[in-house]
Amino acid sequence: MNPRKLVVLMVLAAAIGSFFLFDLGQYLNLQTLKTHQAAIADYRDHNPVSSVALYFVIYVLVTALSVPGAALLTLAGGAVFGVLWGTVIVSFASTLGATAAFLIARFLLRDWVGQRFSQRLTAIDEGIQREGAFYLFTLRLVPVFPFFLVNLLLGLTAMRTWTFFWVSQLGMFAGTVVYVNAGTQLARIDSLGGILSPALLGSFAILGVFPLLARRVVERIRRNRVNARWPRPRRFDRNLVVIGGGSAGLVTSYIAAAVRAKVTLVERHKLGGDCLNTGCVPSKALIRSAKFLSHVARAPEFGIAAADARFDFAEVMERVQRIIAQVEPHDSAERYAGLGVEVVQGAARIVSPWEVEIDTADGERRRLTTRAIVIATGARPTVPALPGIEDIDYLTSDTVWSLRTLPRRLLVLGGGPIGCELAQAFARFGAQVIQVERGPRLLPREDADVSELVMQRFRDEGIDLRLQHQAKAFVKEGEQKILIAEHAGEEVRIAFDTVLIALGRSANLRGYGLEELGVRCGRTIETNALLQTNYPNIYAAGDVAGPYQFTHTAAHQAWYAAVNALFDPIKTFRADYRVIPWATFIEPEVARVGLNEQEAREQGIAYELTTFGIDDLDRAIADSEAHGFIKVLTVPGKDRILGVTIVGEHAGDLIAEYVLAMKQGIGLNRILGTIHIYPTLAEANKYVAGNWKRAHAPERLLRWVERFHTWRRGADEESASHRALANGCRSRWWAVDRDASAR
Ligand SMILES: Cc1cc2nc3c(=O)[nH]c(=O)nc-3n(C[C@H](O)[C@H](O)[C@H](O)COP(=O)(O)OP(=O)(O)OC[C@H]3O[C@@H](n4cnc5c(N)ncnc54)[C@H](O)[C@@H]3O)c2cc1C
Repeated sequence: MNPRKLVVLMVLAAAIGSFFLFDLGQYLNLQTLKTHQAAIADYRDHNPVSSVALYFVIYVLVTALSVPGAALLTLAGGAVFGVLWGTVIVSFASTLGATAAFLIARFLLRDWVGQRFSQRLTAIDEGIQREGAFYLFTLRLVPVFPFFLVNLLLGLTAMRTWTFFWVSQLGMFAGTVVYVNAGTQLARIDSLGGILSPALLGSFAILGVFPLLARRVVERIRRNRVNARWPRPRRFDRNLVVIGGGSAGLVTSYIAAAVRAKVTLVERHKLGGDCLNTGCVPSKALIRSAKFLSHVARAPEFGIAAADARFDFAEVMERVQRIIAQVEPHDSAERYAGLGVEVVQGAARIVSPWEVEIDTADGERRRLTTRAIVIATGARPTVPALPGIEDIDYLTSDTVWSLRTLPRRLLVLGGGPIGCELAQAFARFGAQVIQVERGPRLLPREDADVSELVMQRFRDEGIDLRLQHQAKAFVKEGEQKILIAEHAGEEVRIAFDTVLIALGRSANLRGYGLEELGVRCGRTIETNALLQTNYPNIYAAGDVAGPYQFTHTAAHQAWYAAVNALFDPIKTFRADYRVIPWATFIEPEVARVGLNEQEAREQGIAYELTTFGIDDLDRAIADSEAHGFIKVLTVPGKDRILGVTIVGEHAGDLIAEYVLAMKQGIGLNRILGTIHIYPTLAEANKYVAGNWKRAHAPERLLRWVERFHTWRRGADEESASHRALANGCRSRWWAVDRDASAR
């Protein structure tokens, strides 16, 4: 512990200890006050200044130390100084003492609480930032909430000290007056509890809740006022219009139709959006063919002397299109029409918060009135404004699927997930791939050891990695295309035949009415936790809303957007981003849910790390895929998972167990106690849980248990050779034994 904290803690413990040890509480009860009232008044008359000072200091100390007696002291304030001066003195003393308690709690405990409950504390802090003053006011005004607890708990949040001070002073004022006033009638009071009648308590509660309610109402009026610029139709054609028929738009309209709302889905290009047409589906189809080739190349590893694969790249790309066609019925207009969605092919534009204009594929212009709108217009590849880029016929993830000839030298610009997936796939087809990344490693969002494993594999597969290369310009010299990059302060020229730009994806924010309406946007459309934009009946979901850009998060948000758009203000739900998984489908596959080490360190979150090497897993060995690892971050000393990273074969499937565990609050103990089929890759999840359990074995208890067994054998001590034999024993059933011992 930090020495300053230790000193404060010791002083605090000594002060509180003395209070109880010397039974100082005996002086802070009603009877003592009544008995000594005359003597105290006499002292006050002869020493007015020092009596105020003494009273003030005692009050501040009692409240700062959170020891019992504040209510009695408030009564005493009235009895000794009268209503006016009593109220003034108590009001300042109680606020000062409360603020001291607040600061002590913050100094001693906030860091510790922040490390242990970081995610929850972040959510609380956000709430405090939004409405903390109102909550505190309510808590202060209603004296049933223990005074000292409010001080201590708010000290653990991010509330500003000044806000705490003035809101406390204001909120406690009414209660102070009541108690101080009661103190002037001390002789008639028999107990502290009797001072506040239920009716008075009720009035305080109403007073306390009022500002919070008022704020909500004002907020709603303010939000609704943005719509006031446009005349609100008396009747609506639709309950909901959804713009964009990708993952987010499809799920939104599906949910709306399922709850019997009248919904129109507008798509200007192809239903299924990026995921089906240019993203997840084609990339995974391509990766599958590339993986097959990589296995052929590894034939000797599987005991096959030689294998040869002849292929036509054009046919591989045609297969990709066939796969898209096979999946396409899931996202087709016919399917959605069958579910009750009106699907319109055309470009939509929001003309008012209540109206969407559609230029249909048939050349018509339609205008629909609607109670609510969900924007699900997705994102597009980010193309940097580099000199010469427009002259080199670059590819992006939108256009790469039209290739039918394998590029000889493919330059992949970008070391993120899309760049990595496509770089490895093309290298496996035989392209000479040069991957350029401005940072020091691939997959920079993942931990350094994850990137290291991936980079090693990429290099082994012949990919020319150019890290810390900042692209500056493209030039053409005759037929030669060249990237000019900067590396370590030097200019580097990299020749290529085709370039694939994979530098991330930018939300589609222009050309359909957002600017004209003034829908607030940053890099994405700004939404609140309900996925509402600054227009209360316009929502956004998917890549256009962020913060994640995955199909599963788009679908997840879509549910919230649909339900909130249709049922606000009757019932609304806040989007839940606590457990978001994702995977990068390269070899070795990389999957993650929750925090990794890098993020935990950046956010100052304490964690315990447990790992398991998949190279030690029977099934991975049998499959000749013995590589990778699992890393689990848990709260120190607790069985609560903060995050998991898996690197290895089928990592994206293996992570599902942890996604469920984290979502449902299941810890490693319960994973360890679950039977996993032998031999499967999923057993790795159990073994890492076993490693965690072993690290938390109750060593002292086990030493006693060992003695017990020794005693039952009638032996003095276990022979070293016996122990060595037991440790070295490894059979096919070793996996089972290993769990049992871990448990
Ligand atoms: C190469 C690649 C691989 C990927 N792999 C994965 C993966 O493995 N797993 C994963 O989870 N995610 C993956 N993604 C990301 C995933 O594709 C997206 O997160 C997802 O498609 C987002 O869905 P969306 O509905 O928000 O947007 P989109 O799918 O982009 O849909 C938006 C739709 O809106 C339409 N539209 C836009 N403006 C208008 C308008 N004015 N009127 C009418 N229609 C309009 C567009 O035509 C488009 O169809 C990948 C992406 C790429 C590029």
